[in-house]
Amino acid sequence: MDSDNHIEDLITNGLEVITKKQVFHSDGVDSINCPNCNNNMIDSDWGDLLEKWYKDLGNDNLKCSSCKCEFPITSYNFNPFWGFGYLGFNFWNWGDLKVDFIKEIESLLNVKVKLIYGRI
Ligand SMILES: [Zn+2]
Repeated sequence: MDSDNHIEDLITNGLEVITKKQVFHSDGVDSINCPNCNNNMIDSDWGDLLEKWYKDLGNDNLKCSSCKCEFPITSYNFNPFWGFGYLGFNFWNWGDLKVDFIKEIESLLNVKVKLIYGRI
């Protein structure tokens, strides 16, 4: 049996295509760092601001308590990585994606693809 046949036997193997506004993440968040000075803003009201972004409720800027710069909450660096957007692909029970595959998707979409890993 080769590896392709093995994948076909798995019940949970598959691909989900998400085409709506979404916060993409695999788990909780340890830090939310300012894109300007890297200050951790985990103790801010970032959750409320993310909800504002998701529901289009207006200004979702977060002002850094260190450098005083303001950026949209989606510009902050979430660790582990979170993504924000309108298109996502969930690969369930797949092996590592090949770099060439990711580059081809980036070429087709003309955007940088960001990977979020998760396990159940
Ligand atoms: Zn800052």
